[in-house]
Amino acid sequence: MSMAAKPFASSADLGVKERTLEVLADGVYALTAEGDPNLGAIEGEDFLVCFEALATPVAARRWLAELRTHTDKPVRYLVLSHYHAVRVLGASAFDAEVVVSSEQTQRLIAERGQQDWESEYGRMPRLFEEPESIPGLTWPTMTFRDKLTISLGGDRGELVLEHVGRGHTEGDIVAWLPKSKVLFAGDLVESQAALYTGDAFHFDWAAGTLDRVAAFGAEQLVGGRGAIARGRAEVDAAIEQTRAFLTTMHDTVGTAHRAGGTLKDAFEATHAALAPKFGHWPIFEHCLPFDVSRLWDEFSGIERPVIWTAERDRQVWEELQS
Ligand SMILES: [Zn+2]
Repeated sequence: MSMAAKPFASSADLGVKERTLEVLADGVYALTAEGDPNLGAIEGEDFLVCFEALATPVAARRWLAELRTHTDKPVRYLVLSHYHAVRVLGASAFDAEVVVSSEQTQRLIAERGQQDWESEYGRMPRLFEEPESIPGLTWPTMTFRDKLTISLGGDRGELVLEHVGRGHTEGDIVAWLPKSKVLFAGDLVESQAALYTGDAFHFDWAAGTLDRVAAFGAEQLVGGRGAIARGRAEVDAAIEQTRAFLTTMHDTVGTAHRAGGTLKDAFEATHAALAPKFGHWPIFEHCLPFDVSRLWDEFSGIERPVIWTAERDRQVWEELQS
């Protein structure tokens, strides 16, 4: 059988996505981009909190220009939901007083930030608009272990940043606005987009971590990619769809692993099980080899994700997708 090889990861995805700025509540903004990484911003009385930073300062500046049509308050806090390059390397554009993350995220940047930068640049070059504008790794200047509450001033209530357990990475946090019941969930929840789980803790994520995300009782949820979930039914559907993606992988990869099969067997069974429901979503083909590889490692008893390098990315892709 002869088939054209699939282009590596998202390297052939060069189509520009449409960006939409939405106002979710008074002073609460989200930017979605048809499956590209989402962003958020929250107004305090005399300052802004921004959530996520895109892959480069040039890309981030385009988002800030849109945000500036709504508010000219200075950015006091830039919140990083996790360490992935396409979420953090645009940070310098914000001129934030404080860059906030979990302690775990700070450690991951030190441990594997450079390799992750090179890996993600190879996988998703389109997101790295003018890559030479990146001044270096992004370093958080304020970290917390479990929870950090920021008072927004006036009658704006507070913003709660919380590490709700290991999931998409070891250090993901969510941003919760109790007053407007808006949750920025980062990559812990994807609404109508495929999951990247190459650095994940699948078992924790699908159980306690998603339970804690659901327990906020959000009425609007902004996930890492994809559409905003509006209303409790859509929020619950986005969370349960994320869980279903993970539990399907548990079944197929676990079955192949227990049967003494190969990683390739696990990949093919997982692809067959997920493609009918999720195959048309952004980055499905891109993510799946890395996802299955990490879950295979978890079934093999490897506690923490093996660091992805540009070279290891190509090896796994070659083994599974070509
Ligand atoms: Zn991520």
